[in-house]
Amino acid sequence: MSSDQQEPVKTICPYCGVGCGIKVQPGEEPGDVRFMPWGEAPVNEGRICIKGGAATEVVDHEDRLTEPRIKENGEFREASWEEAYEYVVDELERIREEYGPDAMGFFGSSKVMNEENYLLQKLARRYGTNNVDNCTRMCHASTVWALRTSLGAGAMTNSMRDLREEADVFWIQGANPGEQHPIANSQYFRQAVLEGATVIQVDPHANKTTRSFQIGDTERHQHLQLNPGTDIPLLNIVLKTILEHHEEHPEDGWIDEEFVAERTEGFDHLKATLEDFDKDAAAEECGVPLEAIERAAEQYATADNAAIFTGMGMSQHACGVDNVQNEINLALITGNLGRPGTGVNPLRGQNNVQGTCDVGAMPNVLPGYQLVDDDEARESVEDVWGFEIPDEPGLTNVEISYEAGDSIKGLYVMGENPVMSEPDANAVAERLADLEFTVVQDIFHTETADYADVILPATTWAERGGTVTNTDRRVQRMRGVGKVHENTRHDREILTEIGSRLFNEGFDFDDPEAIFEELRQVCPSYHGMTYDLLGEEGLHWPCYEPGDEGDPFLYEDEFETESGLGHIEGVEHTPPAETPDDEYPLILTTARLEEHYNTGTMSTRSPTLNKQTPENFVDVHPADAERYGIEDGEYVRLHSRRGEITLEARVTDDTKEGVVWTTPHFAAASANKLTNHVLDERAKIPEYKAAAAEIDVEVEP
Ligand code: SF4
Repeated sequence: MSSDQQEPVKTICPYCGVGCGIKVQPGEEPGDVRFMPWGEAPVNEGRICIKGGAATEVVDHEDRLTEPRIKENGEFREASWEEAYEYVVDELERIREEYGPDAMGFFGSSKVMNEENYLLQKLARRYGTNNVDNCTRMCHASTVWALRTSLGAGAMTNSMRDLREEADVFWIQGANPGEQHPIANSQYFRQAVLEGATVIQVDPHANKTTRSFQIGDTERHQHLQLNPGTDIPLLNIVLKTILEHHEEHPEDGWIDEEFVAERTEGFDHLKATLEDFDKDAAAEECGVPLEAIERAAEQYATADNAAIFTGMGMSQHACGVDNVQNEINLALITGNLGRPGTGVNPLRGQNNVQGTCDVGAMPNVLPGYQLVDDDEARESVEDVWGFEIPDEPGLTNVEISYEAGDSIKGLYVMGENPVMSEPDANAVAERLADLEFTVVQDIFHTETADYADVILPATTWAERGGTVTNTDRRVQRMRGVGKVHENTRHDREILTEIGSRLFNEGFDFDDPEAIFEELRQVCPSYHGMTYDLLGEEGLHWPCYEPGDEGDPFLYEDEFETESGLGHIEGVEHTPPAETPDDEYPLILTTARLEEHYNTGTMSTRSPTLNKQTPENFVDVHPADAERYGIEDGEYVRLHSRRGEITLEARVTDDTKEGVVWTTPHFAAASANKLTNHVLDERAKIPEYKAAAAEIDVEVEP
């Protein structure tokens, strides 16, 4: 290192929710920003997956937005910041005056830090609306709903470390840590399996998780390859098997009677729901042998400590809340909650999806999950903010997109790309075109930016500081190396400027730490944290007072529900809203790849990642391939009632007969042109995981 070269900074990988620490080294040339391992990083101890290692590749990418842009006569032109700010502030004021504050929608981002999402939701509420949301709506809104309602907090109940040390059974349903959370998988879960833990994977698609656990005595592991959308019947077979066994052999303790009696409510409702449940018919519906599910039930119920991992295969259904509730039911009746190595653990997708929710960038909650319609909670936040907060929950992001052009007239998008990330994406694009005013604040010109009136160029993760909260509730600091492009601005700088121009006060913060200091005043579970106390290790929330060490696992003594009890509730099967028929005889399901990330804004611009998988593809079962006459590697047209894409077919028995599987990462053939926008009634999460589809062959690539 030359004498004038800056020291590397310690920060957090910008991709998945594991929260791996990395170092970023500024080079001698402007824009030269390099990855370096951080050997003592608290979560990953220097290990890194392909995405983390390639993360700096896009920081100085030639596509970076480097100046504000304003659309004029359908074309973008360069603008000064002054002009852009004036335009944004004037339009926000005009919309509020003409239509009222609920005519605006605000999208936060799970790729953006806690301080910035905190500012965005405060800006929306000061403007007068609760129409603020973030992309957790697309991944774990249903999980958050079920966990918050039935246990108390919408987050992992346990930590990666205690699960690695104490869990004997890993029940992984609708999650794929081998692909999505590679370091959690290799450093924590796979180590536990090498030392004897058993894996039960429930997933319609064989994947890297399936293959990564083919170690040790593989006979003990099971992959229950169910049909998409049959998670409730499968778990009901598990629950009924446990109930039946307990009735005949209570001495085996499959049900933890003491735990159920002292710490739960609703057990009778579950028993009544399952009274006439037909296990044989359900197994047939799931497409999994009954004996295999019964064996899995025994493995889970007889483990000393059994942990459930849940992912988007569970949450992204119109019955997403019920899916997760049934996992909670399983954990509660067997007493697998409130101690190390147990629990119900959502593996979060983006590096700050947990934090974005924690700081209140959602339409129904304020920072710390305090409900906007809870007078006492709302007033306690109003005391700090000094203005009145609207008391009715606002619209979610999918609802905002579907109201665009009708009741919604304007949209503020920070770091999100709804034209690719939302279901039925063609319809989303049409509606955004009907808006009177759209701001996009991002690092690249996204597909959504095409519909913007103003584009504000932001800095990347590597250029600024703040905090992010990982999948096991660990709040960690990020540190920046300084701006690569002088005329870009940090998200917080943009929001403080717009907030100050609109409202004169309440948005005047000099740095991220000043914002965090206000956040901890209104967010009880962060109240005990300061930048100094976070240090390099970070702290798990809840951390109520300075000096608290934070809780690696939750609910040791009681649940954080009104009654203090864990809530059991029987659920019944709801099939996907769209099922195969003569016109669309296949089930389309979607998932993500290790080397790409959501709408591909960053990952498809990374040479290393793109080299691995440069374009989208669809997995087709060999029997379907034969029926359609599809050769491996041939291009096909995949279509649903909402759109079509052309992509390469991969013939593989990773997928089930009748099920086609693809990804949402690539703009040229995005799966979300096909997916169904039907929502879970309570959590408003779309049903990405099951739609009816058809394939045509003989198309040009
Ligand atoms: Fe980044 Fe996740 Fe990979 Fe860790 S596992 S390096 S956080 S993408």
